[in-house]
Amino acid sequence: MLSRRSLLAAALVLGVTPALAQSDAAAPAAKLPVVASFSILGDFVKNVGGDRIAMTTIVGPNSDTHVYQPTPNDAKKLAAAKVVFVNGLGFEGWMDRLVKASGTKATVVVATTGIKPRERTADEPQDDDEKPKGKKEAHAHGAIDPHAWQSVANAKVYVANIRDGLIAADPAGKDVYTANAAAYLAKLDALQADVLKAVAAIPDDHRRIITSHDAFGYFGDAYGLKLLAPEGVSTESEASAKDVGRIIRQIKAQKVPAVFLENVSDPRLMDRIAKESSAKVGGTLYSDALSDDKGPATTYIDMVQSNLRALSAALSS
Ligand code: ZN
Repeated sequence: MLSRRSLLAAALVLGVTPALAQSDAAAPAAKLPVVASFSILGDFVKNVGGDRIAMTTIVGPNSDTHVYQPTPNDAKKLAAAKVVFVNGLGFEGWMDRLVKASGTKATVVVATTGIKPRERTADEPQDDDEKPKGKKEAHAHGAIDPHAWQSVANAKVYVANIRDGLIAADPAGKDVYTANAAAYLAKLDALQADVLKAVAAIPDDHRRIITSHDAFGYFGDAYGLKLLAPEGVSTESEASAKDVGRIIRQIKAQKVPAVFLENVSDPRLMDRIAKESSAKVGGTLYSDALSDDKGPATTYIDMVQSNLRALSAALSS
């Protein structure tokens, strides 16, 4: 006889929405209302919360969280929530104000707690010198890289924090959250193995790519890829002519094989950089958001797999 969880798992494999699978299950009467700030985090929360939670996401698929402008409806979502999950590390610069404005009593859980923040060591000449931390943070591009989810090892930390946050808010669900998290963490272990295998298959001297903003630093650090970007770790400041010129010189000097578009960024900048350098456009990487239902990256795991396919196709030969 199949348990409810294995039925749900089977439904997910078959592409049936969890909502359908829940309708014939004995779900608790009142689900825990939770909010996740953006789509990738929302997918982690859904995997851990399962059918005990009712989740809403603020910044949806293919949307840019850095420059998001909250609406009155977002304040309503927060006001109704018991737990609010955020990335932190400066990713959602608008969140503190929104939490205050909403008057919510929800617990705010920072999903990156415990992750070692990556500082943008990058190729900005200003950042090359050792400087006191305060000064670095004041840099226009923002020195702390918020895109920690791009390392699968970090994703596991997000999941553990989400599990603990849900248990604190809904202790009766402890066993469910613990089991859901364990099952999902096992999938992330398998994903980690896939990433290592895919990157190992890319020749050493091809492991260099360009994206429009510096969103893959944790990925590069974890898996040994060199990533360059004309924009900083946020999309808030546009690349200057100087930034673009520097990238084009780097592509030529370092024989970078491919530049990549991002699902949250205007493709024109990268098209132009590709045209003015020897690099080809290697496809689209999902950086800061999942794809919509028509795209290949509706979950975090599918997003990483889709990025691996694009990287492998562009860099393998
Ligand atoms: Zn970003």
